[in-house]
Amino acid sequence: MTNIDGKVVAITGASSGIGEATARHLAERGAAVVLGARRVDRLQTIVDDIRASGGRADLRAVDVTQRADLVAFVDHGVETFGRVDVLVSNAGIAKIGPMEDLDVDAWSAMIDVNVSGVLNGIAAAMPVFRRQGHGHLVTTVSTSGLKIVPTQAVYAGTKNAVRTLLEGLRQESTDGMLRTTSINPGYVRTELADSVDDPETREAVRRSMEHFAIAPEAVARAIAFAIEQPADVEIGDITVRPTVQG
Ligand code: NDP
Repeated sequence: MTNIDGKVVAITGASSGIGEATARHLAERGAAVVLGARRVDRLQTIVDDIRASGGRADLRAVDVTQRADLVAFVDHGVETFGRVDVLVSNAGIAKIGPMEDLDVDAWSAMIDVNVSGVLNGIAAAMPVFRRQGHGHLVTTVSTSGLKIVPTQAVYAGTKNAVRTLLEGLRQESTDGMLRTTSINPGYVRTELADSVDDPETREAVRRSMEHFAIAPEAVARAIAFAIEQPADVEIGDITVRPTVQG
């Protein structure tokens, strides 16, 4: 018996990468997991795998830019497993590139998914957490927000916005009901480079991924560490990066 066993964890961006690894890892540790993303076929395969191994899992199509989708997603978790103890707001895109390209559509898309997507999750989960008397918000932020490098300014800005939002919410919720955790991954081997439109930047990210990125399971273990703490212990920030990353 661990403090993960029996918890209900809803995860956005669970169709690949960090979200998928987190769903599989937490399910192995005894959590009931609710997977959300747009690629339902991918979610179904993961849910089938988890169930075949004796785990508890369900899914729902979610576009995090749509507030109603997040409400339906969290409600689905409550209807299926009785409550939602943790929301992992993990869905994100990295349409990075030089700022001077002025790719305003890419900036808007990153703000919509990375910032509004997390706010939509907070708006959907908080009423449920209040009703239950407890809840835990985990967000996948980034080392990009800690060190600003060329081509990543807008992406880093969205991630720093999320860090700020979570800290603000934490400051307002000190009655013991809410735990908040920001996870800062460095380079992690996932499909994230696919969301980069600028060919040169995409190749640079892919090269970094191939050469020194760590496995998404490393981030999943960090998320599990935050979740498994006793209710009076909040892990605020965790940075998980390749040992060789500058
Ligand atoms: P992936 O591209 O593998 O996963 C991204 C996930 O987000 C997918 O499941 C995708 O699902 C989902 N997603 C994207 N847009 C939406 C949307 N509008 N609605 C719902 N889901 C959406 O990349 P990662 O696993 O790497 O990314 C996960 C998080 O980790 C992101 O927030 C990313 O910024 C962050 N991160 C990643 C790092 C890395 O090096 N990989 C480093 C630091 C942070 P679908 O397309 O099916 O909707």
